[in-house]
Amino acid sequence: MTTFDLTPPTPAERRALEAMLTPAEREVLLQHGTERPFCGIFNDHKQPGVYGCRLCGLPLFRATTKFESGTGWPSFTQPYDPAHLKYVRDSSHGMQRTEIRCARCDSHQGHVFPDGPPPTGERYCINSVSLQFTPDGEPLPDPLRRG
Ligand SMILES: [Zn+2]
Repeated sequence: MTTFDLTPPTPAERRALEAMLTPAEREVLLQHGTERPFCGIFNDHKQPGVYGCRLCGLPLFRATTKFESGTGWPSFTQPYDPAHLKYVRDSSHGMQRTEIRCARCDSHQGHVFPDGPPPTGERYCINSVSLQFTPDGEPLPDPLRRG
């Protein structure tokens, strides 16, 4: 059970958060875009810490579950907390996939595939620009001031 407040941002809070995004972040988070592979800043990132939603700061993945998938996108075997992700059926581009969104602000993160390594066999394939990284020992971002 998560201890984080998953109440969606109010329209005013959302406008304030969205105003801080770069065009590239906006394209992925709000318009379901995909960044080019092997370009994202977190693809080769190996520091210990937590990856959170770029828009609202909710922690989504731990660095300890990150693995080298060879796809060119940051890949994880499991979420920080299953309640922090929303799973949405995605039939776009002629494929049947499961889209991953932030459970709090509904922003697009990437997709999950059933071809990952142990222990889960899942591969969460996430865009770097959807994420923000917090090293271990530093406070998590809290742009909605939820404490
Ligand atoms: Zn979010």
